[in-house]
Amino acid sequence: MEVRRTVPVKLDVDSDDAALFRETVDEFLWAANYVVDHAWQGEYKTTSKAQLQEETYDDVRDQTRLHANLVQNARNKAADAVQGVVARWKQGEYAGKPHFSQPTAVYDKRCATFHDEYVSLATVDGRIEVEYVLPDEDRDTPHSRYLDNDDYEVTGAELHHKDGEWFLHLRTKAEVESDTPEQATTGHSTVLGVDLGVNQLAATSTGTFWSGNEFDHWRREYEQRRASLQQCGSRHAHENIQAVGRKETGRFKLMLHRIANGIIEEAAENGCTVIAFEELTGIRDRLSGASWGHKWAFERLYEYVEYKAELHGIDVEQVDPENTSRRCSHCGYTHPDNRDGEAFACLKCGYENHADYNAAKNIGLRYLRRNQTGDGGGAPVGVRLNRGMVNVNGGYEPPAGDSGQSGSPRESPTRNEARSSDRAK
Ligand SMILES: [Zn+2]
Repeated sequence: MEVRRTVPVKLDVDSDDAALFRETVDEFLWAANYVVDHAWQGEYKTTSKAQLQEETYDDVRDQTRLHANLVQNARNKAADAVQGVVARWKQGEYAGKPHFSQPTAVYDKRCATFHDEYVSLATVDGRIEVEYVLPDEDRDTPHSRYLDNDDYEVTGAELHHKDGEWFLHLRTKAEVESDTPEQATTGHSTVLGVDLGVNQLAATSTGTFWSGNEFDHWRREYEQRRASLQQCGSRHAHENIQAVGRKETGRFKLMLHRIANGIIEEAAENGCTVIAFEELTGIRDRLSGASWGHKWAFERLYEYVEYKAELHGIDVEQVDPENTSRRCSHCGYTHPDNRDGEAFACLKCGYENHADYNAAKNIGLRYLRRNQTGDGGGAPVGVRLNRGMVNVNGGYEPPAGDSGQSGSPRESPTRNEARSSDRAK
C-alpha cells in the first residue's frame, strides 16, 4: 500500500535568496489568480486543466518570469480551486470566486531537485540551491522517519513564507509492504474515524481533538445579544438581530472550515483513503446537550470536509452510529457503563481511553466491517490510530519505529493491548 507524509522543513535562506523567493511566490500567485480570472469568465466556469492550459499558458509565460512547470503548477492550483467551488455549488452551497494570497508556490520534480540536505528550486531568475535546517539526526522526528528513510521518496513540495521564515513542505510517499492478505490487495482503504460531540466538536481516530469551548462561548454570547435586542422590539432592533446573526454565522463557518482543513490534513498525512463520520440524522437526539446550533455546525462541517476531501481524492462516508460511544473499540464489549463522561473504561477488558477517541475508533471500524460484508467493493485494511493501525479483526499493528505524538490520547498498552501487539509481531 502507498503511504504519504508531508514533512515541513525550514530553509536556510540569505537575503538574496529571500528576495528571489518573494518574487517567485508573487508571480506564482499572480499566475494562479490570472488563471482563475480566466476560468471565471462567462456563465459556465472552466474547470478543464487541458483547456485552461491551452487558453492561459502563453499569456502567463509572456507576463511572468516563471519556469514552465511553475506556470503549470499555478494553473493546476487554480483549476483545483475552481473545481472545488463548482463541487460546492452542486451541493447547493454558496462559494465565491477563489483568490490566492497565502505566500506559497507549488514545486514538482521538474522544477525542483530534492537532495538529502538541500534542495534546488527554480525561481524567477534561474535555479538556486538552499540548505535544509534539520534537527539533530539522532532524535525521532518526521525528518528522521521520512526524509532520511530510503523507502520514502520526495514527490514534490510547497514553498511557504511564514513569520519571516521560508519553509518547504515536502511531500513524501512510500510503498509499504504488508503482511496480511487484506492489505496486499489493491482496493485497500485506510480509514480516519471522526466522532462529533459537544465537549469536543470533533475527535479523530488519530487522537486529534477540536474543543467545543469556543463554539459554546460564541453561541451563548449570540443568544444573549439576540434576547436583549428582541426585548426592544423595534424595527432597528430587528435589523440589528439580523446583522448580528450574519456576523455570527460567518464566524462559525470560518471556525468550521478550520476544523475541516485539520481533518483533511490529518487524513492526508496519515495516508487515509476514507474519512468516516457517524450518520448525522438524529444526531441532536443522540448527544446530550446538543442544540440546534450543534446540528447546524455538524452538517456544515460534514459538507466542508466532503468537498475538500474530493480535491484530495479521499472519500467521505457516514456509518450507523449505534453504540459507537458505548462499545469498547478494543474488545467489542458494549455497555452503557463503559462510558463516564469523557472517560471510557471497558468493564470487560479494562481498556481505558478518552471516550471520544474510543468512539472515533469505533466509527472507523464500523466502516471497515460494513465494507467487508458489503458488496466487496474494496478490501478493508485498517483504522488509522494515533499509534499504528487496528484492522477489522481488532488486531493491533504498532507503527514501525514510530514513537507516536505526545499530548493526545494514545493506544496505551493495557494488558490486552500488549497481548495483541505481541500477536501482530
Ligand atoms: Zn473491552
